[in-house]
Amino acid sequence: MTAKQVLIWYRNDLRVHDHEPLFSALKSKAKVIPLYCFDPRQFGITAYGFPKTGAFRAQFLLESVEDLRQSLKQLGSDLIIRVGKPETIIPELVKTLKVDSVSYYQEATSEELKVEYRLKIALNSLGVLVQSYWGATLYSIKDLPFSIAEIPEVFTQFRKKVEYHSTVNPPFSPPQNLPNLPEIELGELPTLQDLGLEFTSFDSRTVLQFKGGETAGLKRLKDYIWQQDCLKNYKETRNGMLGANYSSKFSPWLALGCLSPRLIYETVQQYEAQRIKNDSTYWLIFELLWRDYFRFIVLKHGNKIFDSGGLKGIKIPWQEDFQQFERWQTGITGFPLIDANMRELALTGFMSNRGRQNVASFLTKNLGIHWKMGAEWFESMLIDYDVCSNWGNWNYTAGVGNDARGFRYFNILKQSKDYDPNGDYVKYWLPELKDIPASKVHEPWRLLSVEQKRFGVILGVDYPQPMVNLEQSVKVNQTIYESAEKNSYSVREQRIRNV
Ligand SMILES: Cc1cc2nc3c(=O)[nH]c(=O)nc-3n(C[C@H](O)[C@H](O)[C@H](O)COP(=O)(O)OP(=O)(O)OC[C@H]3O[C@@H](n4cnc5c(N)ncnc54)[C@H](O)[C@@H]3O)c2cc1C
Repeated sequence: MTAKQVLIWYRNDLRVHDHEPLFSALKSKAKVIPLYCFDPRQFGITAYGFPKTGAFRAQFLLESVEDLRQSLKQLGSDLIIRVGKPETIIPELVKTLKVDSVSYYQEATSEELKVEYRLKIALNSLGVLVQSYWGATLYSIKDLPFSIAEIPEVFTQFRKKVEYHSTVNPPFSPPQNLPNLPEIELGELPTLQDLGLEFTSFDSRTVLQFKGGETAGLKRLKDYIWQQDCLKNYKETRNGMLGANYSSKFSPWLALGCLSPRLIYETVQQYEAQRIKNDSTYWLIFELLWRDYFRFIVLKHGNKIFDSGGLKGIKIPWQEDFQQFERWQTGITGFPLIDANMRELALTGFMSNRGRQNVASFLTKNLGIHWKMGAEWFESMLIDYDVCSNWGNWNYTAGVGNDARGFRYFNILKQSKDYDPNGDYVKYWLPELKDIPASKVHEPWRLLSVEQKRFGVILGVDYPQPMVNLEQSVKVNQTIYESAEKNSYSVREQRIRNV
């Protein structure tokens, strides 16, 4: 009897370690046929007109796909690469290669689910078996202590229940070798230009020279945890903004599945057994649980995460002021912490978690600009863009997420002084401020003209005047938010009474 042929459709799971579809196909002695499709829809334009996948992430993706191809080659197989819609390409390959079944990791959000749905219809009509797996999270769906519909709306409740009742499964072991591929045109890796993008090199000030692929992801894991021994201090350093090691920087590799969260978990356990177990080692796992939470909550609420009113359904009259938005986007708001972070994002595709929280709060709570504009800009720019983490965090910071506690905002000046007390971060990204003493660097608008001359920064010429009054703008937006919140509650109550 000839072995069955399983086509493995790679998506955001660009690795060979801890890969259940690959593992299961090999276990059943099937011949595996790995495929990656560059879907042109992922390289379109967002609703507000940004490239859906910007050049930093596209470059990282290309490197990750190429690295996967090399890994598969070393194991005796290869990767078929195509540019086109998976729901068209896969059925064609199924017919040409007489494939018996198609396996893939399922996703959680509408665009990806639509593709899965169309693919299933096409494959059903060919009588081909479709096997989908859940695998992007630390905890498996089937091991959760509640059904998807019962997932707690509050993160802490979710975390406590999961930590108490569930366990993390060990990673699937990687294959030792793979059967070779049938005769087929393998396809070339497209270039950035083919995807409609232009190469942008990382600014040399980038926190890390991010390189896509499982090989680089595994190297970063080893480097951060074992070689640099950073994990033992993670909880104390994680709110930093400068340098490679204040946080793990695993996110770009996690987003494309070059690193599996279960492998990180296993490595942390080994580290705890061999070196030290403390709050920091726990905290990395705690953060990975946030990642799980957003993915599961999206499964529960579906497309609501993309609605203007967010998971909470609050109808806030957001501004769509493109001129003001552009000042935020390009880092010329007049607030050094915001500008430094926005310029870092534009020049490197990365921003720290502390930075993300502050710029998101500033956009929504000070400028009152639509959070979806910010979320789309992040989607375009972030090298670690993850649909659930990005839109979930934006829901949360804009105050429209399920777990958001009313109108909460970041006091930008306090944050600047707490997290960048010497102004090192803002001076790094805003060299025009380099001669201002630390005590004044976060409030350049307070400089007297004689000081402006002395420090070589003339306001309105070398660095912008602040675009809003921080306190007044927060008050205005708080009033707008609270009245929208009240209205949406009364609409909801009305609906309940009418039922
Ligand atoms: C507005 C906003 C948008 C964001 N968009 C994304 C995104 O598109 N992709 C993304 O991976 N993260 C996103 N985050 C979460 C967080 O900022 C990044 O995961 C983190 O900065 C990545 O750096 P790191 O890998 O060094 O994190 P570490 O601090 O080392 O954390 C380890 C891992 O835990 C996970 N994690 C940490 N914090 C969060 C969080 N708040 N939510 C979900 N997962 C978390 C990430 O997978 C991260 O790699 C966003 C946060 C905000 C406030």
